[in-house]
Amino acid sequence: MKLAENLNRLGTETAFEVLARAAQLEREGKEIINLGIGQPDFKTPEHIVEAAVKALRDGHHGYTPANGILELREAVAADLNKRHGVEVDPDCVVVVPGGKVTMFFAIMMFGEAGAEIMYPDPGFPIYKSVIDYCGAKAVPIHLKEENEFAFSADEVLGNITPQTRLIIINSPANPTGGATPKAEMDKLVEGLQAHPDVVVLSDEIYSHMLYGGREHVSLLQYDNMRDRTIMLDGWSKTYAMTGWRLGFAVWPKSIADTATRLAINCHSCVNAPTQFAGIAALKGPHDQVTTMVQAFDERRKVIVPALNQIPGFSCVDPGGAFYAFPNITGTGMSARELQDQLLTKAGVATVAGTSFGDFGEGYIRFSYANSVENIEKAIDKIKELLRG
Ligand code: PLP
Repeated sequence: MKLAENLNRLGTETAFEVLARAAQLEREGKEIINLGIGQPDFKTPEHIVEAAVKALRDGHHGYTPANGILELREAVAADLNKRHGVEVDPDCVVVVPGGKVTMFFAIMMFGEAGAEIMYPDPGFPIYKSVIDYCGAKAVPIHLKEENEFAFSADEVLGNITPQTRLIIINSPANPTGGATPKAEMDKLVEGLQAHPDVVVLSDEIYSHMLYGGREHVSLLQYDNMRDRTIMLDGWSKTYAMTGWRLGFAVWPKSIADTATRLAINCHSCVNAPTQFAGIAALKGPHDQVTTMVQAFDERRKVIVPALNQIPGFSCVDPGGAFYAFPNITGTGMSARELQDQLLTKAGVATVAGTSFGDFGEGYIRFSYANSVENIEKAIDKIKELLRG
């Protein structure tokens, strides 16, 4: 068997490996507190589940249009209008099986040998993996702790070359929880006016999860960027629907058909009942989303001060998502060493910062999508381990 050469360059998401190791340890009878996993610990709200069941009972089990059912795309447009005050043409919305698929399509569309694509580091690992896979040069945007892990517009603009085709930004961010302030986004957009051929993929999958009075800034709100903004969002995190596989993007009008053509080649369409669930999510009550986000905020207020009390740890206040990303250099261990010790000796699953890029060395990602009780228990176990 001879596999294609470019597969040697395909990376992965090590959070899934940690998950598998944690599950194995649990099978062996060990108690594991999972602060490694990047998904809400809440159930999908009942009315959403019911909408999918009803769709199946009503006979919606065939193919749908490849870009998604019109009613769903219209609901996406209406929701974006309500949340961000923007007009979106439902024909620019392409519904896909999860946020990741938009990422894959966008990078495949612009990436090839000779092209450069910028991506956040530390950042979601699939960005770099797919950039490497398609043969483009991956240019990191170094997200720094002293900047609360927001990107620096000056750094991004300074790294643009004639080969730059796509810039990926993500706010609120995985793995850092960093939320880029509006002033920085304004600066980036202003600077990009000098580079009209550069496209931006704005990953806004955590847009509902901001804390401490922060407000989400969507790239869609900048009219002068609309013809080159790909805005990635989805249902996974907001509605606790990670396993349903449902996401969407708003594409520039000129390439929405190209994204749909990729969908036709790849998966035909998202399964029909899930799309009906997506409509119910957008149009139905949002009280459970509010409750979930409030719970994350309460946990954030527990975990951040607690992490700061662990000898060798220091943690900046994460503005969004459900991750804390403490600096652990004071422990004297590498990120990977500490991740392994926490899992095997303290029974706490976390993810090493290096799983999110080279600039993640010295950091560990904690997901606080877990109960306050478990978070407190995990912190005690970590303290005990480090006390030796
Ligand atoms: N973008 C970011 C920043 C994420 O953290 C994730 C999932 O963890 C995704 C996209 C992918 O979301 P989905 O599960 O909808 O594919």
